[in-house]
Amino acid sequence: MFKAWFATPLWARVLLALILGAVTGYLWGPGAESIKIVGDLFIDFIKMLIVPLIFLSLVSGVTAIGDLGKLGSVGWRAILLFVVTGQIAVWLGLGLGTFFAPGIGLDTSGIEMGPVPEPAPFEWREMLRSMIPVSPVKVMADVNVLPLIVFSLLVGIGILLAKRDEDNEGPDTPGATRGAVGAVARAFDAGAVIFQKITMVIMELTPFGVFALIAWVVGTLGLDAVAALGKLVALNYAGCVLIIVVMYVFILALSRVSIIGFFRGMIDAIAVAYSTASSSATLPVTLRCTQRNLGVTRPTSSFIVSLGSTINMDGTAMYLGLATLFGAQIFGVDLSWADYGMIALLATVGSIGAAGIPGGGLVMMGAIFTAVGVPLETIAFVAGVDRIMDMMRTATNVTGDATVTVATATMLGEIDKEELASADDV
Ligand code: ASP
Repeated sequence: MFKAWFATPLWARVLLALILGAVTGYLWGPGAESIKIVGDLFIDFIKMLIVPLIFLSLVSGVTAIGDLGKLGSVGWRAILLFVVTGQIAVWLGLGLGTFFAPGIGLDTSGIEMGPVPEPAPFEWREMLRSMIPVSPVKVMADVNVLPLIVFSLLVGIGILLAKRDEDNEGPDTPGATRGAVGAVARAFDAGAVIFQKITMVIMELTPFGVFALIAWVVGTLGLDAVAALGKLVALNYAGCVLIIVVMYVFILALSRVSIIGFFRGMIDAIAVAYSTASSSATLPVTLRCTQRNLGVTRPTSSFIVSLGSTINMDGTAMYLGLATLFGAQIFGVDLSWADYGMIALLATVGSIGAAGIPGGGLVMMGAIFTAVGVPLETIAFVAGVDRIMDMMRTATNVTGDATVTVATATMLGEIDKEELASADDV
């Protein structure tokens, strides 16, 4: 039994857990909440890895890229892809919302409202300032991902610059650091590798965590809650599926990678994203999948995946567009083309600013609603079923991170495609 368990590939165990969890939740009902603790423990273990992994992976990623020019060439390609895919996603959400009009003719009286999260006061000056890691230690303690990324990039760049001086001067030149900078760079590499091993150990808990979380969601929300806002939920799923099977598959095809190999290699990350509804919590798994199963070199994947997990959220961008139209339709607010443009802009900024945590996107809605005059009550209205939509958004966000990583790595020759094609035997 024990042997058979470990002999089965992890992705198959995770998939089995997902199905069994859903059935258990459906049969058990709200009582399934009692096993949620197993899922919480799993998420806590994964959360533990976020700060050290981002810090060590990004620093070692930047130093391994070798020089600043090359860092720039990886960076601008990835960021351009993040922005273009994000824009397409928002406009898809707006298109779906306009065409299928999920909020028209809906009776809002009988539906239970979820708790209203504090609308995020959106102020660009504050947002810019919050990206500066004034106290790196506090940023780490608070698991504040955006400033942590800024700090890690700066440490990496500092090492690159110091290493260049060290290499030019030679180790014996008086006053030179005598190889110490190179040693620090290697220490960061070693740290990143050590944390990836720890990730592998924790990944073995995935089937149990996924089982408990899915059972809880299905058991407590039930299928009724989903039915009440069925059209919105269905459009959220349809939009995400379109993003994945049209946009991402197109990008992957352009990059000439095996589509089946890609999804096989990513299934662990997609399942963890779907069940935890958190891109950040999935980060360690995404890193492992892109490196081990998709064959992307460590520097490139560490850099792009870490960055993407917080600033690239296509599922969230699409949903923000869709939900704004939904709110406008329920409350009969007329929107002009200028409003559409505003929503597209704010949804992109919102998806960059949204934390990769459950409900991260929901918090961003307030800013968009206020800007175009949609009542904030809409948030309470959709919050009741947000989790079930969030799961799909997050799975899309994580798939998008890996797609951009693979595409950028292909442009730069930083990927071993044979490894990707053989992702079947992971
Ligand atoms: N939960 C999503 C994520 O972590 C963000 C969102 O709420 O859309 O990617």
